[in-house]
Amino acid sequence: MQIIMKKSYIVIFIFTLVAIGAYAQKKAKNIKPTAKSSVVLNYIDNNFETYNNLQKEIWDYSEVGFQETKSSQALKNHLRQHGFSIKEGIAGEPTAFIAEYGSGKPVIGIVAEFDALPGLSQDTVPYRKERYENKPGHGCGHNLFGVASTAAGIAISKWLQETGTQGTIRVYGSPAEEGGSGKTYIVRDGFYKDVDLVLDWHPAGENAVNTTPGLAKVGIDYIFHGKSAHAAGQPWNGRSALDALLLFAHAVDMMREHIKPHNRLHYVIHNGGEAPNVVPDYARGEFYARSPNTKELKEIVEWYDSAAVGVAKATQTVAEKRFVGGQYEYFINGTIARQLQKNLEYVGGVKWNAHERAFAEALNKVNGNPDSILNKAGIVKPLGEIKRQSDGGGSTDVADISWNVPTAGFGTVTTVPGNPGHSWQNVATVGTTIGTKGLINAAKVLALTGIDFLASPKLVKEAQDEFQRERPADFKYEHLGGDAAPALDYRKGLN
Ligand SMILES: [Zn+2]
Ligand SMILES: [Zn+2]
Repeated sequence: MQIIMKKSYIVIFIFTLVAIGAYAQKKAKNIKPTAKSSVVLNYIDNNFETYNNLQKEIWDYSEVGFQETKSSQALKNHLRQHGFSIKEGIAGEPTAFIAEYGSGKPVIGIVAEFDALPGLSQDTVPYRKERYENKPGHGCGHNLFGVASTAAGIAISKWLQETGTQGTIRVYGSPAEEGGSGKTYIVRDGFYKDVDLVLDWHPAGENAVNTTPGLAKVGIDYIFHGKSAHAAGQPWNGRSALDALLLFAHAVDMMREHIKPHNRLHYVIHNGGEAPNVVPDYARGEFYARSPNTKELKEIVEWYDSAAVGVAKATQTVAEKRFVGGQYEYFINGTIARQLQKNLEYVGGVKWNAHERAFAEALNKVNGNPDSILNKAGIVKPLGEIKRQSDGGGSTDVADISWNVPTAGFGTVTTVPGNPGHSWQNVATVGTTIGTKGLINAAKVLALTGIDFLASPKLVKEAQDEFQRERPADFKYEHLGGDAAPALDYRKGLN
């Protein structure tokens, strides 16, 4: 009797599971996009090879910030071929562009990045093998970023055409995300003024919508000018710019103890002299500060500035400051985030074939992670609570857009889950079809969300009302570099 009872419990349990499964499936069917949205899905699916080739082309160029001439050109050419009109070289950035299709309101923007990282050149193999000596590589997957956003923009344009819907789609070609804060100048110069909302995504190790603001950030070059002299013969005639820079870096290290622990300070030395027997007359270091909020960030920068003045006095050198880039923390729009989540769940995770799976397993061994971490590729993370208070993480220049226009973003699996960020492992993975599959999913989510908003003025209004309600009433956007021009040469010589 006892055993029979248990068996019947099992039967009920299994029955319940089956019923829940059927309900979930039915629910998923309910959110299935309409026949009209098959225009965007079919376009993207039918062009897998086109976008696989385009992402690999840009992966191969691997151009660093503000020098992405060929990458930007490849995206512009493709958009032009599909009937987009293009404004080039906006906001003083030669590789920036706006590609536009359609007319009237609403205007929906999609951001597209394409810059690589210095020194990360790597082949598409699951072990360290430099492709070109000391050259850049796509360690953040921006080769996929730009292509998915471009594909989504074109898919939406096909839908606008087919349905005769009024509205405008814009792809914002956004250079120099990695340290150059390219988007912030495009915002400052008013190119987002007439946009109703913006969609953003990023290559990732999980399929998830962003819910945390990350950190506000600035990057500043502190440069010291001294006097050269024979380091042994007449050192008293020299004033070492390197001494000044080292003292400045020491001051920054000393600051750490006396600022809140949620802040982050880091730096590199770009120039510190050429030969030890010459007193260096020029030294340059690039200093970052990151903070959960822009107010605290500005206080740290003031401290940096006063330290530079003090160091110059102490070493009888001259200090110079040059703004390289800076951006706010992300102000996420919940209405857009929920719409992205709905479409991300519809599109689902990434399915690897046997070859891709073997590549992922080999890299996973290098990373030293359990095999179970690879399951992240196939699943979509549930939507978390949208946070206004940062709990750390990285920074993005999309944040400056998000304080001016309702904006939200997401990630799809384009790398091996567990790969370190900005690594050769990422460069290797995003240059393969693992990267392309993630970009195809991202393009679908962007396109489906774009047409949701284009088809529903009510939904656009909801996003905008939330933006007005949640943004502090006294907020006034100020670019963190003031009226500084984009630092076009910040990666000069590193391509
Ligand atoms: Zn990135
Ligand atoms: Zn990055």
